[in-house]
Amino acid sequence: MPEIRVDFNRPVTVGNEFEYMQQAIGNAHISGDGAFTKKCHAFLESQLGVKKALLTTSCTHALEMSAILLDIKSGDEVIIPDFTFVSTVNAFVLRGAKPVFLDVRPDTLNLDESKLEAAITPRTKTIVPVHYAGVGCEMDSIMDIANRHNIAVVEDNAHGLFGKYKGKYLGTFGAMATQSFHETKNFSCGEGGALLINQPMLTERAEIIREKGTNRSRFFRGQVDKYTWVDIGSSYLPSDMLAAYLYAQFEQREKIQSHRKNIWEMYHAALKDWAQKNGVQLPYIPEEDEQAYHMFYMLMPNLEIRQRFILYLRERGIYSVFHYLPLHLSDMGQGFGYQAGDCPVTEKISDQLVRLPFHNALTSNDQEQVIDAITEFKF
Ligand SMILES: *Cc1c(COP(=O)(O)O)cnc(C)c1O
Repeated sequence: MPEIRVDFNRPVTVGNEFEYMQQAIGNAHISGDGAFTKKCHAFLESQLGVKKALLTTSCTHALEMSAILLDIKSGDEVIIPDFTFVSTVNAFVLRGAKPVFLDVRPDTLNLDESKLEAAITPRTKTIVPVHYAGVGCEMDSIMDIANRHNIAVVEDNAHGLFGKYKGKYLGTFGAMATQSFHETKNFSCGEGGALLINQPMLTERAEIIREKGTNRSRFFRGQVDKYTWVDIGSSYLPSDMLAAYLYAQFEQREKIQSHRKNIWEMYHAALKDWAQKNGVQLPYIPEEDEQAYHMFYMLMPNLEIRQRFILYLRERGIYSVFHYLPLHLSDMGQGFGYQAGDCPVTEKISDQLVRLPFHNALTSNDQEQVIDAITEFKF
């Protein structure tokens, strides 16, 4: 295999990362909830207009916190799109819930809201929409159904930071939302995440769960005179060194997002006609959505072509990847009684999907190489 010329992903510094990490060390506060963690919280709260943002060690952990906060227990059901990352479901299964996998829409690959109401039972406790590729789900219908049945919504917004649905930021619709700052996401600190809380009554308990089940946050604010064990919990707060790195990335919000927008638009403009001619489906962005420019994917005509295409690009030094396998067909999914045919759209698109190189250091020269290779591919 030739050397990789164009990476699929490359985590890069974009501003003051090193300087801020040095400051964190200079502050003699490198554990959690130091000065940079507070800056990250304030940034997310003011930019998005959420009531409370709490940095976590990962999006996975933010999802686990949300399941604890909602008192998910054995026998509860959680509705989850079949086409998502394992953590979206695992966080709830860890607490004993039974996953109910909902198929996705063939156009946006988001949870199919037209099938949502039929999946609800008296045991349904939570709906977890995932804004795939940072393109918002149909939040009006989802929130309407959830509210009518009195079911909490947790948005898995790992892809969708700064995306909008009908002018409102993704992550601000549900009771809670979760963000990821893993190195593959738009903004990163290697491993990291955040829990966004839109229902103020959940905030105090969230702080306790994140601090090992203690009321330490209240203690530091002088609201109680000693801190002690008050609830279940774990250690979900990241080091302030990571928050320092992340804050430097947040400061470059405009630069990062406009660069990613250019990447997305260049792929789209260059591949539109080629895609139409060859039966390839490009991402669909509904009119009410402003996407977060997290990725550029294509749906190839079938699995055989998709596999040949990935290998073909690899032979030209270009690294492209497929994405999620249908959760209902995984070992765990089958253990919950699912079988082939239960989510036909996910089964189909999972075989067809390929993601093109997309990261904060991708140049237009890199993109030209990718586009040239793609348009020379023999179907
Ligand atoms: C990346 C991702 C996660 C997990 O994020 P971590 O921060 O790595 O735990 C969860 N859900 C979705 C949809 C993701 O893409």
